[in-house]
Amino acid sequence: MQQAINVAKFGGTSVANYDAIKNCASIVINKQNTRVVVVSAAAGVTNELVLLANTALRTEQITEVVEKIRVIEFSILNSLKDPSEVEDKLFSLLEELDTIARHEELNFRDDLKDELMSMGERMSSLLVAAILREMDCPAINFDVRKILRTDSKFTQAAPDIQAIRLLAGQLLRPEIDGAVVVTQGFVGADEQGRTTTLGRGGSDFTAALLAEALGADTCEIWTDVIGVYTTDPRITDKARPLPELSFEEAAEMATFGAKVLHPATMEPALRQNINVFVGSSKEPEKGGTWIKQSCEHEPPFRALTRRREQVLVTVKTPKMMYAQGFLERVFKIIAKNKLSVDLVTTSEIAVSFTLDNPANSISERINKETLTELSTICEVNVEEGLDVVTVVGNNMHSSAGVSSKVFAAISDFNLRMICFGANVHNLSFVVSDKDSADVVRVLHQALFE
Ligand code: ASP
Ligand code: MG
Repeated sequence: MQQAINVAKFGGTSVANYDAIKNCASIVINKQNTRVVVVSAAAGVTNELVLLANTALRTEQITEVVEKIRVIEFSILNSLKDPSEVEDKLFSLLEELDTIARHEELNFRDDLKDELMSMGERMSSLLVAAILREMDCPAINFDVRKILRTDSKFTQAAPDIQAIRLLAGQLLRPEIDGAVVVTQGFVGADEQGRTTTLGRGGSDFTAALLAEALGADTCEIWTDVIGVYTTDPRITDKARPLPELSFEEAAEMATFGAKVLHPATMEPALRQNINVFVGSSKEPEKGGTWIKQSCEHEPPFRALTRRREQVLVTVKTPKMMYAQGFLERVFKIIAKNKLSVDLVTTSEIAVSFTLDNPANSISERINKETLTELSTICEVNVEEGLDVVTVVGNNMHSSAGVSSKVFAAISDFNLRMICFGANVHNLSFVVSDKDSADVVRVLHQALFE
């Protein structure tokens, strides 16, 4: 019988320094089934790379940023028992990083940006493999670009599931019997072999994609929290970790602002029915959250999330002559710009919808272009300073008293928009960003305490 396979992913804080990586290595070594290890860049490194990629810096500023990254990587290297084993490789990666960072077209070319942003993961996978070896675990560093095929949408590439399955079968599968394979999260390559990335936080997604491609049984996401919480513990100290979650609930939570998991992570898990574990690499003994197809308990209220920096757009047709086909015209423009709309409400001649708008992201620019285009066919009104608060749970549409319980708790707040009914796992409302933390606290008390 074929051995059960576990894919373990370690996030940026888990691989931030030598001691943190040793914790990860112990977790890997303690579970024989862990054959593939997916790593993020050491904490802070990707942020520095993004800064280099997106800002026109002076030469001495570039030197400073590169130096910061060098310090992080060297402190890990120099803690190794035998740094010479990987020293040359790390030096040449840092040299490559330095060269791209100074490329005069970097700020204008997304392909160069991705080449640069891949460096964090490429360095940490080298070092994590070395630490596993020094703890007597046979481990190799594997270039994920050989198998993680994506389209060519640099900085936001989409995986080619079929190609990944095929390539992983040919090139990764044969490696995992003899060694633990350490590879890069977040990074991929297109058909021409050019480096791509999956979008910020994409390492979770990589782990799930590789687990799917290998037909793995489990996928562990090791981070700095002991699982997924009822809500962000930074909002209320009453938040508590959840022992279990369904794929649907986890996907809703990730999409609507829970920071622990990349929103796309659940797709491969769902397709292949892979149980996903979330836990803390610092405190593995504390357990964590298991995310699976179906849970023992499916309570109406499971968790609360908050998504910040939302833009609420209301479009209105000035003439009734557009009333027919109006929605179609609006959504055509949105679809053409590949925007994702989260919440929608409609009336006869008007539609309101929310857009995610994190400042300085690509979406902010695309949002602006889309709004300009919309204003050629209708009146457009834009409201900012809003957050979306979401109650995630089960069978919300059919459980009596669900909505009344929620609305009674927050009757003191002005709800700018409410979405309920389309999804049995989600009740969302748009509130002022000044109120959102209080809304979460009050709801948490009413529903969970
Ligand atoms: N290093 C990448 C980021 O910080 C990917 C990841 O950590 O998941 O976004
Ligand atoms: Mg992450």
